[in-house]
Parts: sequence; C-alpha cells; structure tokens
Amino acid sequence: MQQPGLFDSSPIPARNHSTSVMIAPTFESFRDAAREMLRLNRSPDQIWWVETDEAEPPGSASTAQARVSAQFVKIAQFVACHASPDRWTLLYRVLWRLTRGEPYLLALSGDPDVARMRRYEKMVRRDLHKMKAFVRFRQVSSVAGERFVAWFEPDHAIVKLAGDFFVRRFTNMRFSVLTPVGCVHWEGEGQLVFTQGLSAAVKLADSLDDLWKAYYENIFNPARVKVDAMRSEMPQKYWKNLPEAQLIPALLLAADARTDQMIQAAPQVSVLNCGSPPEGYQTVLQRSVQDDSRPALARIADATRACRACELWEPASQAVPGEGTPKARIMLVGEAPGDQEDLLGRPFVGPAGQLLDTLLAELNATREMLYLTNAVKHFKFRVTARRRLHQRPQAREVAACRNWLLQEIEVVNPQRIVCLGATAAAAVLGHPIRLRDVPPLGFELQGRQVMPTIHPAAVLRAADPSSKRAHLRADLQQALLGLI
Ligand code: SF4
Repeated sequence: MQQPGLFDSSPIPARNHSTSVMIAPTFESFRDAAREMLRLNRSPDQIWWVETDEAEPPGSASTAQARVSAQFVKIAQFVACHASPDRWTLLYRVLWRLTRGEPYLLALSGDPDVARMRRYEKMVRRDLHKMKAFVRFRQVSSVAGERFVAWFEPDHAIVKLAGDFFVRRFTNMRFSVLTPVGCVHWEGEGQLVFTQGLSAAVKLADSLDDLWKAYYENIFNPARVKVDAMRSEMPQKYWKNLPEAQLIPALLLAADARTDQMIQAAPQVSVLNCGSPPEGYQTVLQRSVQDDSRPALARIADATRACRACELWEPASQAVPGEGTPKARIMLVGEAPGDQEDLLGRPFVGPAGQLLDTLLAELNATREMLYLTNAVKHFKFRVTARRRLHQRPQAREVAACRNWLLQEIEVVNPQRIVCLGATAAAAVLGHPIRLRDVPPLGFELQGRQVMPTIHPAAVLRAADPSSKRAHLRADLQQALLGLI
C-alpha cells in the first residue's frame, strides 16, 4: 500500500504515470523507498526522486525486501554520497535491472550504468581518502570547554562515512569536523552526533575563532533558548574568553523574531532530482532565474544544473556553468565540457584548458582576467571499453542551450567574445559559419566584437600542432589587445 508522506505524487503533476518519491538524502532512506517501488513494480522511468528533509525516517515505511548482492549494496552506499543529483535515478535503474533479469549486470564494466556507478563510487572514495588525509584540527576554547575543531570542504556528502574513522583515530579527543555538507561531533565517549552543514559564507572566516563563532551562530536554535540555564552552565564572567559568547546577546535579542520565522517557514524540498522530469520543471528554472537575492551568474549556474531542455543532462555527471570575472571585458566560449570538466564541474580544466592557460600565460594574461564558458553546458560522449569519448553536440542541443549562453553574455556584458570553434561561433552569432571565412576583425554583434578562432582541442588533435598553436596564439593575442 502506498505510504502517505513517503510517496506523495500530489505536488508535481504526473506524466507517464510518474510518481514523486520523497526521500531523505541518505542511502537508508533511498533503500527503503526503492524496496517499496520494486514491490509496486514501478519502473525507473516512472519515478521522480525528490530529496527532502521531510521524508519519513529510514525503516518506517516499508518492510518489502529485494534480494540484491552485497556488492551492489556496498557500491550503492558510496554512490549515495555523490553530489550528482541523478544518483538516485542511477541506483534505482541498476537495482531494477539487477532484479529484473540481469543478475550479472555488475560484471559488465562496459555497461553505461555500471561504468557510471563505478565512477561515482571512485570519486566518493577518493574524496573520503582526501578528507582522512587532510583534515587538520586546531584547539579552541568553547562554551563547554576545550575542543578540537577542523574545517574541511569535501566534494561529496561523505561526513557520515568519515565519522567512524575520526573516532577510531581520536577516541579521547572532543572534536568537531565542520563542512558545508554536514558536521560531525564527538564528546570523547558516547555517540557521534551529526548536524547540518555550514553555509558557504563561513568559509570567509579569517580564523578558527571566526569559524567557530559562525558555526555557533548556525546551530543556535532560538526556539530552545533557556537563558537561565545558559548562565548557570556558563557564568557570564567567562564569556569574554569564548569566541562564540560575543554573539549571544545579539542572538538572544533576535531569538523571538527568528522563532517566528522558523514556525512560518514551510517545509522545503531541497533538491529536485532526475528520472522523468515532471512538467513543472520549467517552473523550477523560472524560479531559480528570477530569485534576485543571489548574483545573476550563480542563478544561471543553478538553472543549468536543473535544466532538462535537451537529453544531454542525463548521462553527464553534472552541468558545467561558466566561471571567471563577473564583469570581464573578454569572454571565451568553447564548444562543450569534456571528460575532466564533466567530473570537476569547471570549464577548461582538461588538456585543452591547460593549453589555453599556457597560451594565456605567454601573452601575460590569466583565465582569472576573463570569463570562460561553453556553448553547451553538459558533456556529450559515447562510452568505449576504456573511456568516455567526446562527441560534438548537435545543432538542436546547441539551440536548446543557447538560452543560458545568451544570459551569461547579457550579465557579463563583455566587449569581446572569442569563440573557440565553429560550434561556439554558431551559438554566439545565431547562425553557422565557416572558420576560414571569418573576416580579420571578426563580426560585430550588438556592439560587441565576436572573434571566432579554433578550439585548443583542435591544436591537440592536429597532425601539425605547431602551426595550429601559432594560429590560436595569434588570435588570442589579437583578442586581448587593448583590453587586458
Ligand atoms: S546541455 Fe544545455 S540545454 Fe541541454 S540539458 Fe544541459 S543545460 Fe540544458
């Protein structure tokens, strides 16, 4: 029987008999929901996975069982921590195939779903290794005595995976590891406590004291303030030595207002995930773009992450939005992200990007002086036995993605746009061109100079790279002239 609260299809219009499955962003919550979906015989394309903090706790929804190998469960526990919003769809698709006639699927390393699941697992394991190796504790005075505090920025939600390791290593220490994706606390005995991540603003803290203060402000719950108890636990004469104590008077003053806000705040769905996109996804994009409380480029970046306007989003790991100086005078537009860009979520970080950096350095420029983006924001590829091979996006995919590029151009407002390759030039100009027909000064477009040239990848692929390199270098030099 369908469980109220856990499987709630009402907020998002159904399409193809799709069901919105509300889960907490944990493996356990996914496991319970997936079991129930298998029992109901819901195929992967009928499910729209929605992450929310309002999902029922694991174990409370279904007692349905599905027999899958321990190997899948082990991999899935890592994949569940991956930052990609499509991980639940991917896991359920693999689970579905394993339980519907493909029991040996995991042995097929060339299968796109298996390859992707393995890649996610590997990325999470690598992140976990970095966290274990690079976390550095510092001692701070806290309201509850001395403790060791560390700040770390993992790429994936690995704090729960790492918790036991830190306890084993630092059993006798009282510690907190603070991260943007979750925090873990140990009091020297008892249980590990996990709390929500810290906002990105905390990263600006100058010192550990600032960091600790920011954390304290974050966890301060105005609805649970007991001023007398606080004063008896922590006599006011000691407050001056404690970094977070300086915040308490202001936090107490604001407590009533914040309590009201907390009561009025509606439960929020935190992430819309993949699967068959419901018809309402356009609304999500619209809201993201229109929310003017955040910088415009950040809103565009978020919107590309939620975009489903063409099919490229699905096999890709993530969208790769543009980056660089928000008011750069020169914008560089490439074709689409490559393998490395797809994994790291940043443009021009693969071999072609490294060549671009080298050429810019030779011309006394850096990428930080520019704004770099791509005509298409998701990686298009085909899978071979060993790697993912880049494929050129088709005209309809470039057209679908052009909306985001034009918005970036409008916000950055560059004087010159350097198009790296014919695809980028077509996206910027709105019509196809041949690179050999480009006039010496490029094109004029709404008061901007558009300068198409070859893509750095064309240099790397060339039979005679030195002449192509010289060609690209000369064009970049001309593009930088007078503006850098
Ligand atoms: S490639 Fe562009 S249009 Fe296609 S899904 Fe990604 S962001 Fe949207």
